[in-house]
Amino acid sequence: MAMTIEDKLGLNRFNVDNSYAHIHIKENCPDQKLVERLIMACPAKLYRQREDGSVEFSYEGCLECGTCRVLTHDRIVESWNHPMGGMGVAFRKG
Ligand code: SF4
Repeated sequence: MAMTIEDKLGLNRFNVDNSYAHIHIKENCPDQKLVERLIMACPAKLYRQREDGSVEFSYEGCLECGTCRVLTHDRIVESWNHPMGGMGVAFRKG
């Protein structure tokens, strides 16, 4: 039976670096359409919008695809770096 994308993503392992967040964001963005596009675009679903309209983000579980950086650079994503060596995602099935 073919594996779904969710099945494959579930096999990934994460070495979370609790002392270093590799992505920093600006929580307040006046462009609501951009916020919605970002929430839709992150394949790991790490962005959410709070009731007050601010953006909530957690770097744990990041797939390091760079989509959020390209889509919102300097508007929501303030800085984007790879995790330190040996940390972050370890892909098991692509
Ligand atoms: S790099 Fe990719 S997976 Fe990580 S937060 Fe940005 S869009 Fe989501």
